[in-house]
Amino acid sequence: MKLMLIEGKGKEMANILKIRAHHLLCIQGFQGYGYSEDFVKNMSEIIKSMDSNPEVKIITECDIICSCCPHNVEGVCQKGPDSAQEVRNMDTRILEKLHIKDGMIGRVKDVLSLINTELRNVSDIQDICGGCAWKERCLWFISRDK
Ligand code: SF4
Repeated sequence: MKLMLIEGKGKEMANILKIRAHHLLCIQGFQGYGYSEDFVKNMSEIIKSMDSNPEVKIITECDIICSCCPHNVEGVCQKGPDSAQEVRNMDTRILEKLHIKDGMIGRVKDVLSLINTELRNVSDIQDICGGCAWKERCLWFISRDK
C-alpha cells in the first residue's frame, strides 16, 4: 500500500493533531470507556475533531489524549512503575510494523488505512494490545481477524 507520509520537520503545524502511535488504534475502538469522566469527554472530542483536522503527527510520548488522563503526571505516563517505557515501546513497535518514523505526518484517513491493512489480524497486535485492560471493550481489537 502506498502512503503519502512526509517528514514533520518544517511543515506547517496548524490543525495537525499530535497523537501517540498506539492511540491511533484506541480511537478506532473507543466506545466511551476510559480512566475518568474527563478522559472520556476529552477523547470523544478529539475523535470528533479529526473530521476537521485532516492530518496527524505520529509521536511516541504523552499526547492530547494523555492530557486528560489521571495517570499522566507532568507529561509522563505513570499508570504503573514502568509504564512510561512500556507505553513508549508499544508506540515504537507500531511504527516498526507500519515502517514509518516517529514524528511523521500523514492524512488521518491514510494513516488509519495503513494501520488497518498492516495490523489486520489479532496475531499482528498481540505484542501491542495483548496486555491491554480495555481490549475486550475495544471495537477495533474485537474486529481483528482471528
Ligand atoms: S494510561 Fe498513560 S498512555 Fe494511556 S492515556 Fe493515560 S497517560 Fe496516556
